[in-house]
Amino acid sequence: MSTFKAPKGTYDLTPPDSAKYLAVREALSAPLKNSGYGYIETPGFEDVALFSRGVGESTDIVSKEMYTLTTKGGSELALRPEGTASVLRAALEANLHKLGNLPVKLWYSGSYYRYERPQKGRYRHFSQVGAEAIGAEDPALDAELIILADQAYRTLGLQNFRILLNSLGDKECRPVYRDALQEFLRELDLDDDTRRRIDLNPLRVLDDKRPEVQKQLVGAPVLRDYLCDACKAYHEEVRDLLTAAGVVYEDDEKLVRGLDYYTRTTFEFVHDGLGSQSAVGGGGRYDGLSEMIGGPALPSVGWALGVDRTVLALEAEGVELELPSSTSVFAVPLGEEARRVLFAKVTELRRVGVAADFAFGGRGLKGAMKSANRSGARFTVVAGERDLAEGVVQLKDMESGEQQAVALDALVAEVQQKLA
Ligand code: ATP
Ligand code: MG
Repeated sequence: MSTFKAPKGTYDLTPPDSAKYLAVREALSAPLKNSGYGYIETPGFEDVALFSRGVGESTDIVSKEMYTLTTKGGSELALRPEGTASVLRAALEANLHKLGNLPVKLWYSGSYYRYERPQKGRYRHFSQVGAEAIGAEDPALDAELIILADQAYRTLGLQNFRILLNSLGDKECRPVYRDALQEFLRELDLDDDTRRRIDLNPLRVLDDKRPEVQKQLVGAPVLRDYLCDACKAYHEEVRDLLTAAGVVYEDDEKLVRGLDYYTRTTFEFVHDGLGSQSAVGGGGRYDGLSEMIGGPALPSVGWALGVDRTVLALEAEGVELELPSSTSVFAVPLGEEARRVLFAKVTELRRVGVAADFAFGGRGLKGAMKSANRSGARFTVVAGERDLAEGVVQLKDMESGEQQAVALDALVAEVQQKLA
């Protein structure tokens, strides 16, 4: 233990658990790589205005949860609280939307920062894998993303999750609904903070998790009744495509999501084993975002899946990921001469692509064998003076327990053959 601890609301990923996180990240992104999405990486911080304009001043993310800083040069920056605004900013900056065919399909994976009240599944530093499809208005694209997230979770072995689906309408019909909702909300008994929200972003009031607020929302106007014909047809098409793909979803007219930029399709993946931090991922269509940050009109859709909560969901379901051991061969030298010879063999094995490790630190046989066991290696190679005098090493199969003398010169080929 040092004098220092990880900051509040954060935690470290250390072996062996860290391997699970890596595998989850890999599994969440695999369907995207397989579906025409290209990898994008953006800085961990951005101009604070990108988020206040893009994500929205009235959102919790911007108004309460953002880590902001002023640089020595006087720039106002924020640690990124989410990925979409950054990815769109980067795509526009690189003119990706002008280079070839639309949509521009991108995926990312990284750290995000929100100043939240830490709880299980809610951290100040967390990881997401995300996808954005920029520049096309096509219900098949919305459906594709939902299908790919579903596939990612299922490949991991998750079962107890549900997909909640809604449409938020567009710039034609949403304002009409907004007026009706504001009128309804103004009659309710609400605190000052929530009253302010009625003016800024009334849909967010529907998202309020407090029971005393939820109780009053019974009978509130429902967006579905206000959707214009174009939005209705679009949403029907998304639903039909999901059904045709065998993806089961629930219509949830209360699903508005926390970000200002969503239009039409919105969805959330919730897991029933996670208590109140139940959202493992979410996303939707954001047709207006590009213009909000000074770009051309580029209707787009995307999602972000939470890596931390996906790991918690796997634990809640008792799913054990099959993680192949990272080391295939572990070498244990007995004595100075063997140390030199086996270290050279380990280097040789690594150069031909066999994952190998070595008992460093000159510990005794017992300690070294413990390390060999812990490494999960399929084979150990042990050699002492007598072996070397005969030009052999002892190759032990840790699965069967069988041990055989192998000529030193034939070791690499023998191991390769056995592992093949
Ligand atoms: P919540 O309603 O739980 O606050 P959110 O709507 O703020 O979630 P998004 O902005 O949609 O979340 O982010 C996508 C995903 O990232 C979430 O579904 C969740 O899995 C994960 N996530 C968001 N905030 C956190 C956090 N503070 N700690 C861990 N994971 C998070
Ligand atoms: Mg949140």
